[in-house]
Amino acid sequence: LCLSVSLSPAVGSDGVRVMMESALTARDRVGVQDFVLLENHTSEVAFIENLRKRFKENLIYTYIGSVLVSVNPYKDLEIYTKQHMERYRGVNFYEVSPHIYAVSDNAYRSMRTERRDQCMLISGESGAGKTEASKKVLQYYAVTCPASEQVQTVKDRLLQSNPVLEAFGNAKTLRNDNSSRFGKYMDIQFDFRGAPVGGHILNYLLEKSRVVHQSHGERNFHIFYQLIEGGEEDLLRRLGLERNTQQYQYLVKVRMKEEGGSGNCPKVSSINDRSDWKLVRKALSVIGFSDDDVEELLNIIASVLHLGNVQFGGEDSGNAYITTDTQIKYLARLMSPLNQEQASSARDALSKAIYGRTFTWLVNKINDSLAFKDDSFSSKNASVIGLLDIYGFEVFQNNSFEQFCINYCNEKLQQLFIELTLKSEQEEYEAEGITWEPVQYFNNKIICDLVEEKFKGIISILDEECLRPGDASDITFLEKLEDTVGGHVHFLSHKLADGKTRKVMGRDEFRLLHYAGEVNYSVNGFLDKNNDLLFRNLKEVMCMSENKILTQCFDREELTDRKRPETTATQFKNSLAKLMEILMSKEPSYVRCIKPNDAKQAGRFDEVLIRHQVKYLGLMENLRVRRAGFAYRRRYEVFLQRYKSLCPDTWPNWDGRLVDGVSTLVKHLGYKPEEYKLGRSKIFIRFPKTLFATEDALEEI
Ligand code: ADP
Ligand code: MG
Repeated sequence: LCLSVSLSPAVGSDGVRVMMESALTARDRVGVQDFVLLENHTSEVAFIENLRKRFKENLIYTYIGSVLVSVNPYKDLEIYTKQHMERYRGVNFYEVSPHIYAVSDNAYRSMRTERRDQCMLISGESGAGKTEASKKVLQYYAVTCPASEQVQTVKDRLLQSNPVLEAFGNAKTLRNDNSSRFGKYMDIQFDFRGAPVGGHILNYLLEKSRVVHQSHGERNFHIFYQLIEGGEEDLLRRLGLERNTQQYQYLVKVRMKEEGGSGNCPKVSSINDRSDWKLVRKALSVIGFSDDDVEELLNIIASVLHLGNVQFGGEDSGNAYITTDTQIKYLARLMSPLNQEQASSARDALSKAIYGRTFTWLVNKINDSLAFKDDSFSSKNASVIGLLDIYGFEVFQNNSFEQFCINYCNEKLQQLFIELTLKSEQEEYEAEGITWEPVQYFNNKIICDLVEEKFKGIISILDEECLRPGDASDITFLEKLEDTVGGHVHFLSHKLADGKTRKVMGRDEFRLLHYAGEVNYSVNGFLDKNNDLLFRNLKEVMCMSENKILTQCFDREELTDRKRPETTATQFKNSLAKLMEILMSKEPSYVRCIKPNDAKQAGRFDEVLIRHQVKYLGLMENLRVRRAGFAYRRRYEVFLQRYKSLCPDTWPNWDGRLVDGVSTLVKHLGYKPEEYKLGRSKIFIRFPKTLFATEDALEEI
C-alpha cells in the first residue's frame, strides 16, 4: 500500500496519473451522485448537464444532500428487484448509489432508532413519476419489514389499496396515461417490532369535473372503461349497460368545438381495461369488500353513465323535458322548471356529486380495512411513515380554479420545505456545535398569505362573492380582487398590467407571481366551482335511494341543516392546514420527480422542459441552501473507515477517540483549517474539491 500519497495531481508516477484520470473520466461520464459535489454549484447548466449524463447511463437517481431527485426513465429498469431491496436494507445512505430504496430505508431506520415519525414528500409535475415512486416505497416496506400472518394481511391491503384508488381516481390525460386526479397522503403505521400493522389515507380535491367532461384526447376515470370492457355479461345485464363505451355520453361526449372538443379516447395502448378490471375486482376483495358492497358500488358507477345519457329538449315555454327514453321520470318533474341548459348542468352537478362522494366513501371504506385491529396495541403507540403523493405545480395554456388550488397547495408545500430544510440544517449545526451561518432565501409566505389570509386573501374574497346575493359573477369577483389585492407585488390583472403584459393576458384573467413562476388564471367558472351547489330536491332524491352507499353519502341531516356548506376553496384550505400540521410533526424526506419529455418516451432528455422543472421544484435554491455552509458531512466512524488507509497513523486501525483520528487523518492529507470543521460526531467539509482530492488519493492506492 502506498501510504504517503501527495494530493497534488502534478506529482506522482505516470501510473498514478493514469489511474486518476480513469477515476476522473468515470465522474465525467456518469456525473456526480450528489449535486453538492458539483464544482460550480450555482450553475444551472452544470446541474442539468449532470442530470443528463446520469440519465443517459440509466442512473435516474441523484441526491441534493438528502433530497432525492428522480428522472422518469419511461422504461422498466432492473433496479427494483428483491436483490436491490436487500442491497439497500440497513445500509448507510451514502455507501450505496442513490435510490428510492435508500431513502425508504433511511426513513425506516430513523423511525426505528430515533422513534421519530417520518414523512416522505413526493413532488413533481404530472407524469414525473410520483405515484410510481410512492408505490416503490410501499413495496420496499412490504418486502423488507418483518411480517407475521396478521401483518401479511395488512401489507396486502396496503398494496391493494393502490389499484382500487387508481381505478376510481386516475385517468388518462394528455400528460400521463395513468394520471392521479386527486391528492393522497397515506400513513403507514408500524408496531414496536417495526412491522406494518395499519394504515390511513387522506384524499384531497378529486377532479370531479372529469366525470362529465374531458378534454380532447383524455378519458374519464378508468373504472368506467374497466366495467364496460371487463364486466361479466350478467353483471352488465343487471346494470343495464351495453359493452360499448360509445353508447355513453360521459365517455364520448359529442360537444361543440367551442366547448373544448370531446374526450372520445376509449382505447389507450398502454392500458388494458379488461385485465385491469380483474385486478381491481381482486383488490376489492383483498381489501374486504363483500360482493354486495361491490354490486352497490358498481350500481352507482352505472347510474352515473345512465344519468349522463339523460338528454333534455326545450319546450316552447322554455322549460326542459326529457327527450331520452329512460325510466328516471322523476328527473323530468325535478328539472322541468329549468331551461334546457340549466337542466343539463343540474344533471352534471348531480353526477359529479354522486361520483365525488362515492370516492370519499371508498377511501373511508379502505381506511376501515387498514385500521388497526389489535387491541393490545393502539394506533397511538404506532410509529408512522407518511407518504405524500400530491399534484405538482401546474401551468397550462388556460388555468382555472383547479390550477389555482393546486398551485396554492404547492406554495404551502414550498413553505413547509423552507421551514423544515432550514430548520433541520440549523438543528444539525447546533447539535454538532458548529456556528450557524444564516442563509439568504426567498420566503414565499407572502404568496401564501395573499391566497389564504382571513378577510383579505383571495379565497376570502372569492367566498364573499359566492355568498353575495344579486349580481355577483366571476367578473365582479375579479373586480373585487383588483380593489382589494390589486397593489400586492405578487398580483396582477389585465386592467392593472402595463401595455406589454396586458397583451398576453385575457380580460378575464388575473396573474399570480408564484415562487416557481407566473401563472395567469381565468376567473371563468370560479364562483360555480367554489360554490359546488346541488339542488336541494336532487339531494332529497339521493337520500331516498335504497343504495346503501348513497344513503351514507347523502345524509338526511344535510337537508335540515341551515348552515351553508363550506366552499370548495375553504374546505381545501382547511384540509391543507391540517396536512401541514401533520407533516410538521414528522421528520421529512424529499423525493423530487422530473419528467424528461412530453412524449412519454424512453431515452429522450428535453432540456427546456427539464430546466422548467428544476426551476419549479426549486432545486437550485435547495442546492444553494445545502451548499451555503458545508457541502459534505460524514460521521467520524464512516469517514475514518473509508479513508484511514491514506495515513500511516490511522492505518490499519485507530485506537484513540474518533475525532482525534479524523483530525490526524485530515492534517496528514493537508486540509486547511478553513476547509473543514469538526463537530461532535461529524466532520463538515466546505468544498467538494477537498473531498474529491481525497477520493482520488484513494483511487491511487
Ligand atoms: P405522476 O404520479 O407523477 O403523475 P406516474 O408515477 O403515474 O406520474 O408516472 C407516469 C408513468 O411514467 C408511469 O405510468 C410509468 O409508465 C412511468 N414511470 C414513472 N416512474 C417510473 C420508474 N421509476 N420506472 C419506470 N417507469 C416509470
Ligand atoms: Mg400520480
